[in-house]
Order: sequence, then C-alpha cells, then structure tokens
Amino acid sequence: MAEIQKNALRSIIIVGGGSAGWMTAAALSSLLSPESVNITLIESEQIGTVGVGEATIPDMINFNAMLGINEAEFLKATNGTFKLGIEFIDWGQKGESYIHPFGNIGVDMQGIDFHQYWLHAKSAGNSSPLQDYSMCAVAAEHDKFVLPDTNPRSVLSHLRYAYHIDATLYAKFLRDYAEKRGVKRIEGKVEGVSLEPEHGNVSSLTMDNGSQIEGDFFFDCTGFRALLTEKALKVPFTDWSHWLPCDSAQTVASERVGALLPYTKATAKNAGWQWRIPTQHRTGNGHIYSSKFMGDNEAIDILMDGLDSKPLGGPRKINFKTGCRETLWNKNCISIGLSAGFLEPLESTSLFLIQMGISRFITLFPTANVSNVVRDEYNKQMLKEFHQVRDFIILHYAATQRADSPFWNYCRNMSVPESLSRKIDLFREAGRVFRYDDELFSKASWIAVCLGQNVIPKAIDPIVSSLPHEQVKHSLGSMQNAMKRAVYNMPTHEAFLETYGAKPV
Ligand SMILES: Cc1cc2nc3c(=O)[nH]c(=O)nc-3n(C[C@H](O)[C@H](O)[C@H](O)COP(=O)(O)OP(=O)(O)OC[C@H]3O[C@@H](n4cnc5c(N)ncnc54)[C@H](O)[C@@H]3O)c2cc1C
Repeated sequence: MAEIQKNALRSIIIVGGGSAGWMTAAALSSLLSPESVNITLIESEQIGTVGVGEATIPDMINFNAMLGINEAEFLKATNGTFKLGIEFIDWGQKGESYIHPFGNIGVDMQGIDFHQYWLHAKSAGNSSPLQDYSMCAVAAEHDKFVLPDTNPRSVLSHLRYAYHIDATLYAKFLRDYAEKRGVKRIEGKVEGVSLEPEHGNVSSLTMDNGSQIEGDFFFDCTGFRALLTEKALKVPFTDWSHWLPCDSAQTVASERVGALLPYTKATAKNAGWQWRIPTQHRTGNGHIYSSKFMGDNEAIDILMDGLDSKPLGGPRKINFKTGCRETLWNKNCISIGLSAGFLEPLESTSLFLIQMGISRFITLFPTANVSNVVRDEYNKQMLKEFHQVRDFIILHYAATQRADSPFWNYCRNMSVPESLSRKIDLFREAGRVFRYDDELFSKASWIAVCLGQNVIPKAIDPIVSSLPHEQVKHSLGSMQNAMKRAVYNMPTHEAFLETYGAKPV
C-alpha cells in the first residue's frame, strides 16, 4: 500500500480546452480530490476551439450521469434538444430516405431478428418501411418526444435518445463544473514540449510567457494540432481517407424555424453530404465534402442553397483528414479528441470516442511509472473502437447505388476493409448480422443502414419464410398500431422541453 502511495500520480496536465479537454477535466475532477492530484488545464483563447460537435449518441447520457449532471440543467445550459436518430436522405439513391433510429427496430420473435419478419412481409406486398416499426423513428417523424418508460412492458420502453447541443456552450458548462471541483485553468499558448532524456516521457511545457509547467501525466487535447502527440512524441497517423474521402467542411448556423425536430438530417450531396442539427436557439448546418471532387466555392453554394432559414453569419471552413494515431497512449501522454483521430461526423461519434478514451483511462488508472502492459491494453481497446466505428461509417458510402457524380462512382467502387466486406457479404447473402466485442453499433443500426441503402438479403430466414403471411402481417400490424397509438399521446418535442424545465430563460 505504501508503494502505491509513493508512485501515485500527483499532477495531471490537460493541454486544450475544447470539448475533449473540458470533458477530460470534468470527469477527472469528479473522481479525484484536489488534495491528492492537481489537475491543470491549459488553453489558448487566441487559438480557439473547433467549436462544432453538436450531435451526440445515447452514451452521452452515461457520461453526464457519471458526472452527476442534471439533464434539464444541461439542456438549458447548452440550448440542447433531444435526438432520436438520423434521417439519411439521398444516400442509397437520389429521392430515397430512411431513418437510422436509436434503440431497436420491431420486436424479435422466437429468437429470430425482427427484420426477417419484415422482409417476409415485404415479399408479400407490405409497403411499410422498416422505420415504421421503430418507436424512435415514428416519434421523430411526428416531432414528438418523451423519456423512455422504465416499465419494460410499455412500448415506450423502446425509446432511446441522445442530444443536439451547442458545442461551445457545452465546453463552457464543463469548465464551470471542473473549476468548481478544483481544476486550475491557465490561459496561454504552449510553445515548447520537453521530453525527459532517459525514457522520452513528457516532462514539462514551455508557455509563451516563458514559464515552465511540469506534470506527471499529460493529456493532449490540442485538436488537429496534436501538439504533444505529433510534434513532440512523433506518433504516426494512419490515414483512412481512401475509405472516407471527405476532407473539408463548410459550416454555418441559421435561424431556428418551424417545429423543433428531434432528429438530425444528413442529406447526401454531389461530393459529400450536408447536416442539419436543430438546437433550441438556432439550426447548425454544415457541408462535408471531398476537395478532390469539389471546390470550396461550389461547396459553399450548396451549403447556403440547402439552408431552410436565414444564415447567422458567413460560412466557416474546416479542413480535416480521416484516420487515427497508430497508438493513442504514448509514454506518459494520452491523445483525446481530434488529436487522437477523426472519423467525420456522419454518425456523431467523436464525443463518444472522447468519452471512451476518458473512461478507459479511469479503468486503467496508472501509477506515475506507467506500465507498458497498461498502455498496450488501452491502445488495443481504443483502436478496436476506432476501427469498428470506421467500418460503420464507411458502410454509408460504400452501400450507395448513386452513379450521378464522380464522387459517388468512387465510393460505390472503392474497396473496403475486410472486416466490413465480410459483414456486408453475410448480410447480402443471408440477412445475418452479428455484434462482436461489445461494438458500439448494434445489430439494429447495421440493419437500418443496410436495408435503408438497399443492401437486400438474397434469402430470408427459412423458419420465418415458412410462416403463413397472414400470421406475420398480423404481428407486424399489432406492433405498428401500438407505436402509432403511443406517439399520438406523446407531447411535441418543444412542449416536452418546456415542461421538463429545459428551456433557457
Ligand atoms: C466539421 C466537424 C463536425 C463535427 N461534428 C460533430 C458532431 O456532430 N458530433 C460529435 O460528436 N463530434 C463532432 N465533431 C468532432 C468534435 O468537434 C470534436 O471531437 C470535439 O469538439 C473535440 O475537439 P477537441 O477538443 O479535440 O479540439 P478543439 O476544439 O480544436 O480544441 C483544441 C484546444 O486546444 C487548444 N490548443 C491548441 N494548441 C494549443 C497550444 N499550443 N497552446 C495552448 N492551447 C492549445 C485550443 O485553444 C483549444 O482549446 C465534428 C468535427 C468537425 C471538424
């Protein structure tokens, strides 16, 4: 025990005050007392943050719960709204759309996946899309929202949700949380990183005013700059842009109009896609595209033409490269956030990967002498997470039938990672999908995107296909009616936010 105390981490330095930095600071400050570990966060207002990152996935609820954050207060502070899924428009073919909802789709029967019954009914002429059997999708289509029912017998227990937030307000909210718990903030620019000669660990940082900041452990949350990871520790970056060719974004906020949608819209464009994210005070918009296939001016025109309300300012460009570091924990430094990697925001996974990086660090909390075994385990688990998310995002591009632009021709014909092609082949051949190693995206997610983009299985489960059509039709009809009834009685999204006390005053 005495040995453990002697080797304990005494000072943690977080460089960067975007979502990654403040999420890390907040989580650590909720667990560690300032008397035992000093936590310092350095950020530079002059450099600023990337300031986007408005859509999330349901795991964020767990992060907030870990911090003991009240949900209504959080929504109020971030101008947040609820999100039940993403509508993908024009991805399979132009003119088509589908919702990738959170939660399950339909109810599995006799141990057989629901979509097998849906495919059977479709073959007999049922024209209801798959999303008509998802509680989240049906509620989303009607702009309705309530919290999931805790009674598993209620159809409302199938609801799952996440949030749309203002990322800048979120960082501010977490800063307040962390500073109240003893995190010390230093304003200024880090100009130099010193490595200890013997082991190559980060030993200190030199600030623009010449001061030195020492620490036992460092978090590189410096965004795309990756100041410690790339510039000092020289950790290579694995480039995935041949599978995810978008490398540019134009973003602009616009006035809020109409009903408050409880879902994100992602509309495929000629060389990428455009998002629409409703928060309480405005709509977040962005056009993600590949600079190999489209110039900036054309991309801006598409963004502005695609707005449904008056822009609040001019467009802002962000360049990025999709991929990830070869290792994320190096020496006594972990890269969290954009310094670790970026997979583009199509499935809103970046804040989730930040959350995973923090919770894995906490699970593997090291002593001051970081063990290689601990570091390797962290890297193994985090890289697996990045690879699994990567495959799911590539699926959206690879499973297109669009042949109306050079960009979509490239995506349709590109080779994909073997781990993904195996999954697509199994689904196409037999309609089967499996979830490996606790992967983030569920079977329902894979099924929603595959079927939504016309990856139609050649065969239906033989047990299901032997069932009388009338029996299957009856079961599906009952499910659909139960969901419609439940949604009819739900409040609108806007009304729910009001009664929940989540509207900013
Ligand atoms: C176009 C786009 C859309 C996105 N949409 C989503 C989304 O919908 N959902 C989602 O989950 N994620 C999204 N993301 C990702 C999300 O924005 C980031 O993961 C998240 O904001 C974390 O960013 P960060 O904190 O790593 O970097 P940043 O926000 O860039 O912060 C970097 C910090 O480091 C500081 N810094 C840098 N260099 C120095 C230095 N030398 N000295 C001192 N300080 C320094 C900066 O001042 C800043 O505080 C999107 C990203 C992009 C590019």
